[in-house]
Amino acid sequence: MKEKKKLALSTQIFIALVLAIIAGIAFTGDPSFATAYIKPFGTIFLNLIKWIVGPLVFFSIMAGVVSMRDIKKVGAIGGKTVVYYLCTTAFAVAIGLLFANIFKGIFPVLSTTDLAYEPSATSVNFMDTLVGIFPSNFVKPFVDANMLQIIVASLIIGFALILISENNDNTDFRAVDIANEICMKAMEMIIKLSPIGVFCLLCPVVAENGPSVLGSLLKVLLVAYLCYILHAVVIYSASVKLLGGLSPVAFFKGMMPAIMMAFSSASSVGTLPLNLECTEKLGADKEVASFVLPLGATINMDGTAIYQGVCSVFIASCFGINLTFPQMLTIVLTATLASIGTAGVPGAGMVMLAMVLQSVGLPVEGIALVAGVDRIFDMGRTVVNITGDASCAIVVSKMEQKKKAA
Ligand code: ASP
Repeated sequence: MKEKKKLALSTQIFIALVLAIIAGIAFTGDPSFATAYIKPFGTIFLNLIKWIVGPLVFFSIMAGVVSMRDIKKVGAIGGKTVVYYLCTTAFAVAIGLLFANIFKGIFPVLSTTDLAYEPSATSVNFMDTLVGIFPSNFVKPFVDANMLQIIVASLIIGFALILISENNDNTDFRAVDIANEICMKAMEMIIKLSPIGVFCLLCPVVAENGPSVLGSLLKVLLVAYLCYILHAVVIYSASVKLLGGLSPVAFFKGMMPAIMMAFSSASSVGTLPLNLECTEKLGADKEVASFVLPLGATINMDGTAIYQGVCSVFIASCFGINLTFPQMLTIVLTATLASIGTAGVPGAGMVMLAMVLQSVGLPVEGIALVAGVDRIFDMGRTVVNITGDASCAIVVSKMEQKKKAA
């Protein structure tokens, strides 16, 4: 047998991504083959990830909690994480608003007559989100891959475990560790399929959308992508360097597999297993990453916040409305809160845009103006979302390591 050199996973995923774009463009004339025969394999891959991600998060958070042996410590990590997430998200939406206002002049003014948008999507409200954090059934969070509910359930069970075994030794926790290891191994096996998954997810998207779909919205997309890149390069580089002691180049290089997966799948939750792997390789503590990342996959959406900032300005300008400064502040606040309630699945950010538009009295129907290219906005915003989560895992790990050393 010939000696075969094994390509690194990130290289394999990159090749798959390039091939998917080439094949997708080749199929644009008639996307039916890609939709009928390639897309299902992408769906199988995502289904496998969705299947493992619930138990994986449940047991890894529980293993993290019991290994800390300290309910207060979990609270401290949670506190830092939430503050980091809220600050970076507020920055993100501000960047989106700022650049959208700078470039507003080049945005197309699309006709707003005959716009229609399903009113069901407008019924999202913050109190519902709050109530929705708490599970009412033991298995439903897993059925729905609802990360916030899984986190709450694993924290409660983890705390209970600490409390009942206060006077006992480590053997009480062994079962949790074993369950965690099994989930990790299963995840590793699924992750090995990522190159195929990435190809099968992205190729039909390119084939179905084709370059012409960009059409009149190209400039709005470019402004959103400019903000995505700026936010990632400036904010995350600064935070991992200054607060996490990690070189930004090493950070982005190490994150590449997760970034490519996020771009192809447009799902933070689907990228979670790869993100855990990448951040741990970059030096994040397992116990921190397994808490911070699943939380971030649901409540931290910087890319989504940027998108909401840019789209609000664009939609307002199509309706001939100029947003005032107080209105923009309201958007910063609402988009930050909306990002907490956004699930890490494709298209969720667009639904939450309704809440942001409503907060400043903009017509919700405006969403129809950007809906056609939502997937393209979504691929970029998901990359920013998961990179933000990872930067937080690095920063909080560093803070915890420093505290331990002191
Ligand atoms: N797709 C995004 C994510 O999973 C959420 C969104 O639609 O903005 O992170």
